[in-house]
Amino acid sequence: MSLNEKSVAYGAQKSSIREISAYAGERKAQIGAENVFDFSLGNPSIPAPDAVRASIEKSLTLPATQLHGYTPASGLPAAREAVAASLCRRFGEGVASAGDLYLTCGAAASLSISFHSVVNPGDEVIVIAPYFPEYRVWIETSGAACVEVLADPTTFQVDVAAVAAAITPRTKAVVINSPNNPVGSVYSRANLEALSDALHEAEEHLGTAIYLVADEPYREITYGAEVPWVPSVYDRTIVCYSYSKSLSLPGERIGWVLVPPTNPEHDELVLAVAGAGRKLGFVCAPALFQRVLMDCVDCPSDVEAYAENRRALTEGLSALGYEFIEPEGAFYLWVRALEPDANAFFERARTFELLPVPSDSFGCPGWVRVGYCVSHETIVNSMPAWAALADSYR
Ligand code: PLP
Repeated sequence: MSLNEKSVAYGAQKSSIREISAYAGERKAQIGAENVFDFSLGNPSIPAPDAVRASIEKSLTLPATQLHGYTPASGLPAAREAVAASLCRRFGEGVASAGDLYLTCGAAASLSISFHSVVNPGDEVIVIAPYFPEYRVWIETSGAACVEVLADPTTFQVDVAAVAAAITPRTKAVVINSPNNPVGSVYSRANLEALSDALHEAEEHLGTAIYLVADEPYREITYGAEVPWVPSVYDRTIVCYSYSKSLSLPGERIGWVLVPPTNPEHDELVLAVAGAGRKLGFVCAPALFQRVLMDCVDCPSDVEAYAENRRALTEGLSALGYEFIEPEGAFYLWVRALEPDANAFFERARTFELLPVPSDSFGCPGWVRVGYCVSHETIVNSMPAWAALADSYR
């Protein structure tokens, strides 16, 4: 029996983030959790707000057939209305309505649906490197080629000229992720406006339509930076969102895709999103958590714990002479490796029980990602190991 070769290959490829995290688990069992500094996974370290538990408890009083029943493929109308109302309160009247939203099992499904909505075989989708590694899998699976364009090497904003140079008649979409995993950068309004101008210019010149897929699971996790509402800057935007990070619910799988009314072919794109969901079997997101959204869509994220970790990590590493990009959002620190080969640097770090993720996995050499969604003690207690690692290069 011959299997789908691509699927076998994706299954056989290991995600280095998950491999390092699995290694951390083994190592903790061997030498004690307190002796391993696991900075690999983006699993929120702060608990979900109390309002989430209260909402679940309220739902548990519903009749079982209602509680556990199917919802419409795109989600409960009341849940989508709650999300749309929240977006209108925050970003302006009319930015979203319930009919523009399709509830999903997190940003992973939102992105897959977005690519399957717009891509035809042979198209190209541009990603800004360094990027979340799963983008490549989801883009390729939709039938497009994944085209990497490096971010500006000093600011890690979008290098607009490089994106413009990479656009071809086949370019169907550009994916942006701000606040950014793995760098922690937040794209400024000026940067997004320049990107918007470049995309419009290319569309006009080539006579094509180019979508901007805005992947925003970290939108609420910022340290003072403005995160512009992308559809107000570029018309052909699709917004992908998830409550994995903002409500600390990564295991519950709940998020959405929004087709903003700014899209010139809005109604058809809404149909394409529904069709992509159907095609992929991504229908009826977890009903219990759709109900949680009705109660918790505006629950503030407690970013203070991440802010404190960020402070401790940046102050500590800076005192030790490490170079890094000051993070404006998300919960990752992008640290320059102390040798050109990030994998070799990781291997050395591992001997000090430090487990960041080498940057090659994100499509960019020479750095490591340090996830600071960990306990504060992990950050504080890891400092002697970071010092010893730096010393080993002197
Ligand atoms: N996009 C980015 C940038 C992420 O970091 C993640 C998860 O870490 C995802 C998408 C997928 O998130 P979800 O848990 O909502 O599927």
